Amino acid sequence: MGRQILVVGFDGIGDRPSKELNGMTPLEAASKPTIDWLASRGAQGIMDPIAPGVIPGSDTAHLALFGLDPFKVYPGRGPFEAIGAGAVLEPGDIALRGNFASVDSNLVVIDRRAGRSEYGLDELVRFLSKNITEIDGVEVRFYRATEHRVAIVLRGRGLSDKVSDTDPHVEGQRISISKPLNDSEEARRTAEVINKLSIEIHNILKDHEINRERVEKGLPPANVILMRGAGKMPHLKKIWELDRIEIKKAAAISATALIKGVTKILGFEVIHPQGATGGLNTNVASKVRAARDMLDKGYDLVYLHFKGTDSASHDRKPREKKEFIERCDEALSRLILEFADNIVIAITGDHTTSSELGQHTSDPVPLLIYSKDVFYDALGRFSERSARVGVIGRIRGSDLIYILSDLAGRQEKFGA
Ligand code: ZN
Ligand code: ZN
Repeated sequence: MGRQILVVGFDGIGDRPSKELNGMTPLEAASKPTIDWLASRGAQGIMDPIAPGVIPGSDTAHLALFGLDPFKVYPGRGPFEAIGAGAVLEPGDIALRGNFASVDSNLVVIDRRAGRSEYGLDELVRFLSKNITEIDGVEVRFYRATEHRVAIVLRGRGLSDKVSDTDPHVEGQRISISKPLNDSEEARRTAEVINKLSIEIHNILKDHEINRERVEKGLPPANVILMRGAGKMPHLKKIWELDRIEIKKAAAISATALIKGVTKILGFEVIHPQGATGGLNTNVASKVRAARDMLDKGYDLVYLHFKGTDSASHDRKPREKKEFIERCDEALSRLILEFADNIVIAITGDHTTSSELGQHTSDPVPLLIYSKDVFYDALGRFSERSARVGVIGRIRGSDLIYILSDLAGRQEKFGA
């Protein structure tokens, strides 16, 4: 029986020196006695979440952190956007990204985003969910995503993602007919379902009261959904199916739909603690409590995810990022004191999000590993800068779970 593993994942933790913080990164500028205490007896390094020079999304990066190769298993944005919008996908499901859009009576697209106005869209998604539940024996589900976007999931036997979009991608053209992209029966059938669905959506939305209200308000009607990017949900290896690793029970604590969805597919029990929002205003104490509960319950791997670092970076607010790290550090202090000597701890993130650029970059992510018998560098402060000289050197995201499971005594030897 090995030791337990705690991974604290600060979304978008890595950053670049910030003018607002006198040339320091938010992690460097943060006063974080708990994490720095771990750094005084731990090992640091940098990690390319996917590969050097590849800019990760949160979904692809998390697949890598839990031992998978996103280049091999990532099914495209459709399924993962659906997951982000709250769908629970099964292998074989087809997911499409969609826009609410406006067409005229000849189905010519007038506005590809229905004026980007969200007015009444929640209600339209509820209405669609109630009134279109299947087409030709294929289950249909709708999920509201951000702004004018929706995700559509098709579930049934013999479906294919090799179908073209109904989104013509330009205005002034009729909505496109989805076509099979190979000569399989599956692709032909899926395209047919999508075309019937497309017409059905228009038929029940065109005279909907919400659309009358939208037109009265001078907004373009949301009378069609343009679909694109069909993707098929693959079977992904569960965390307990990874080669040579013995992790039977894993829990993920997160309030972010996409991360909840990805970890759930990988076999984690997902906990969304009370007061956790997936933003800067989240109840950090409540999340740390949930992590502690899962450790107490004997979970082999506990993943504690904080989204606020990424949100602050996208908003170009390095100071808020720094302060969020400080709040998390404080909330972590008792947990770390109590458990540090008996478990293996990693503090890291899924990618770098530059708070100057407001977007993800391919810069490697700082990584800190603490375990009472790790070969430590004792750099004493955890930051992008010190991580670059740490003993771990430079690894890939998919190496992390192997390194941690070895330190925890949860891995079988490879070979004789
Ligand atoms: Zn992320
Ligand atoms: Zn992000």
